[in-house]
Amino acid sequence: MSKPSPLGAKIAGLILPVVVYGLLGYTWYIYIFRICGYLLLNKPPDNTAQAVIFIVIASFLWIMALLSYTRVLFTSPGKPSNARTPHSTEESNQGLVAPINLPRYYYSPKLYNKSTMKGRQIDVQDKMDIMPVISVSRQDGQPKFCHMCECYKPDRAHHCKECNACVLKMDHHCPWVSGCVGFRNYKFFFLFVLYTGCYGLWVFVSSLPLVVTGIRDMNADLDPQWIVIIIIAFIFGLTVCGFAGVHAYYIIRNETTIEHLADRPNEIRVDFDMTGQNFEVVSVLVDDNLWERKKMENWVSVMGRDPWGWFFPVRRGLGDGTVFQYNDYMFNTIVNRAVKQRQSMDASNYQNSNNAQEAQVAVTEYEAERLSSIDSTAHMT
Ligand SMILES: [Zn+2]
Ligand SMILES: [Zn+2]
Repeated sequence: MSKPSPLGAKIAGLILPVVVYGLLGYTWYIYIFRICGYLLLNKPPDNTAQAVIFIVIASFLWIMALLSYTRVLFTSPGKPSNARTPHSTEESNQGLVAPINLPRYYYSPKLYNKSTMKGRQIDVQDKMDIMPVISVSRQDGQPKFCHMCECYKPDRAHHCKECNACVLKMDHHCPWVSGCVGFRNYKFFFLFVLYTGCYGLWVFVSSLPLVVTGIRDMNADLDPQWIVIIIIAFIFGLTVCGFAGVHAYYIIRNETTIEHLADRPNEIRVDFDMTGQNFEVVSVLVDDNLWERKKMENWVSVMGRDPWGWFFPVRRGLGDGTVFQYNDYMFNTIVNRAVKQRQSMDASNYQNSNNAQEAQVAVTEYEAERLSSIDSTAHMT
């Protein structure tokens, strides 16, 4: 299946939100007024209590789906600041023996605040024990740069062709929400699919007995709209609930859709000091999830600390979307591999220089021999 063109995606992005609001509005109207209204008015038997419970549950799920959708629609996924300079604090460090000249975005456990989930930049007060720091880079160790947005990409940011912008912790481009799902609106997107899926399944399950009875008894009151809504609720409820399950799995693994589907290894640059010249690049397998931590930590990083806040589209997750806490095991593995890589390179350089010295000695000896033989030949003539 070919990808839609940017224009096609733009048109879909304008139409699909109308479809979503339309479907939510239509299904709620039919469910409340035609199904629950029928239960309330059609006596005996007295179904008032059942109808009220149905109305409360469906309306709660519906309102939450609607609010979450509106939030994801009107919340930017987050973009990196447009800054061309690759280095973070070089301007403020003039006069230092070793100026800080690192890539713009980097991570080290010693620089990371676990309560705010934000990393900080190295400053002049810091000693060398703050090193090493690591960052996602290109194969040659240079920071990833987006030529369209003219900015250095933070870890986990990607350029979206449809939006023509770099997106922080990009998950995917979604025409249903008319844009990208990324760092700032991912929680709202997850709540939207969760509540919409639950709403669809609830409408289906609670309407089914009424519709089945109506069809079986050839009930004259059977409303064709009941059948329409039950089909819509079934299809959307099942597929969207499945989608919510997939994203719940991504959240507790701390990975995005892009990272889950990626097939190329990550190149990680390890800086040993602050000069920006002393680094190694380590290749990390795509299955090694760099940012996966304990399940609850992963969950909190997206859904926030307050358990009440998990259920409402009010506050997004923690951090600033530019630096992410690495898995401790992966951090240590990467640094150890970089150190070994450096040691083996030093050893081979040493070997090469020894070989070069030996070769130089051999050449000198050969040259001396040759000169002396020329000399003795000259004496003989
Ligand atoms: Zn870009
Ligand atoms: Zn996009």
